[in-house]
Amino acid sequence: KIAQLRNQSIPPARHFIDGAQVSASDGGTMPVTSPIDGAELTTLARGTHKDADRAIAAARGAFDDGRWSGLAPAARKKILLAWASLIEAHALELAVLGVRDNGTEIGMAFKAEPLSAAGTIRFYAEACDKIFGEIAPTSPGALGLVHKQPVGVVGAIVPWNFPLMIGAWKLAPALAAGCTMVMKPAETASLSLLRLAELGHEAGLPAGVFNVITGEGPVVGAALAQSHDVDALVFTGSGATGRKLMEAAARSNLKRVYLELGGKSPNIVFADAPDLNEAAKVSAAGIFRNSGQVCIAGSRLLVERSIYDSFLEKFAAQAKAMRVGDPLDPATHAGAINSESQLARNLAFVDAARAAGRRVVTGGTRILEQTGGTYMAPTIVADVTQDDPIVQNEVFGPVATVQPFDTEAEAIALANGTTLGLAAGVWTRDLSRAHRMVARLRAGVVHVNTYGGADITVPMGGMKQSGNGHDKSLHAFEKYLDLKTAWIKL
Ligand code: ADP
Repeated sequence: KIAQLRNQSIPPARHFIDGAQVSASDGGTMPVTSPIDGAELTTLARGTHKDADRAIAAARGAFDDGRWSGLAPAARKKILLAWASLIEAHALELAVLGVRDNGTEIGMAFKAEPLSAAGTIRFYAEACDKIFGEIAPTSPGALGLVHKQPVGVVGAIVPWNFPLMIGAWKLAPALAAGCTMVMKPAETASLSLLRLAELGHEAGLPAGVFNVITGEGPVVGAALAQSHDVDALVFTGSGATGRKLMEAAARSNLKRVYLELGGKSPNIVFADAPDLNEAAKVSAAGIFRNSGQVCIAGSRLLVERSIYDSFLEKFAAQAKAMRVGDPLDPATHAGAINSESQLARNLAFVDAARAAGRRVVTGGTRILEQTGGTYMAPTIVADVTQDDPIVQNEVFGPVATVQPFDTEAEAIALANGTTLGLAAGVWTRDLSRAHRMVARLRAGVVHVNTYGGADITVPMGGMKQSGNGHDKSLHAFEKYLDLKTAWIKL
């Protein structure tokens, strides 16, 4: 089935606005290149400012006339559940389409993309009719009512690594709350989200409730951030873009802005880890699956000095055993790098570290060039120091750095010693130490004796410059609901 789907031709993709496919206002298109083999898959509408305004107007209209927020919550739930079922019915088609576009290995993409998106939509669908207000004990003769109302039109800008999973983290709670949305996927991962939008309409979403526009970030993405008709902006991507979005919001209508930015997540291995072989295996998966193109990737290994050499050996053996290659082969552990420019950026970090005298234990090179695709060997750079650019900056590729530490206090200082704070890992058998580490690590998600587990029931968000606000869990509703107080004299 995969073999059949991988060769299917893909018609030119257009925006999905107000329930219909729409070309760019000036007819512009841009090519979509597959990172698997460099072949041109199809074209996308190259959106204009006018296209963004058209999509925002559709979402505004759909919000203001109450065709969505005015439905009974149970009616919204029914449509969202139908959408989730349709996504499940089309899971393989969506997964393969997404993999051809972005290069993630199918074994991971199948679960992490359509199935995860369907699960997320189901989770929030079930919550539609469980959003309750409050009655406050104000004074005799008066009632204080606290209503929870949808914030309105939400702009969502999402990245290329997991378009359906991250897209669903935004759209599902927003739509469940009664908001309408315009989503802007990444240039190199738009196809599966466009298909998702079509399935939503097949499931009964009213026109204008969920719109998808494609094109360049600085054009159509920026238009969402600048609009006076967008009430909230939610984003996952780079810190540099996140800053621009906040600035644009400040200059326009002071819309709420929620950012999930990069990570440079430390993964700390103490000598008393329960099982060092298991730690090496899970840590390798934690940085090398999807070729490191994961927000929470455990990219900085900190290893207690007494086991530094022996652990590094185990970790390197795991890296060398990863099967990198054709992302549509179910046996592949790590697929393609999303784009040529991303691959070049990854290699530049490693080259700079090498030039500074750091030890490249394994990898550090482009591989499988004869395929025409963009592949990189799992890479370990050891004996780095805290100030190295490769330690301080998110690479977003299959690159792990390794540093030794002597004491728990030093491990915490190194772990917290970057501007980012998305995730962290701790490997120890000492329960007290585990709790101390969880308390002191400045990261939104801390894993203990595991790495990278995911569940929709728990929140995900960053500390420090990794962002604000939370995706996932019922806390995500805070982004999409406004509180309104009503005083009623009795
Ligand atoms: P990365 O590509 O490293 O994940 P980006 O922040 O460049 O990070 O991309 C994430 C999303 O932000 C993509 O959908 C991209 O098109 C969009 N984007 C990029 N630049 C801008 C911008 N100036 N304004 C709005 N959106 C942007």
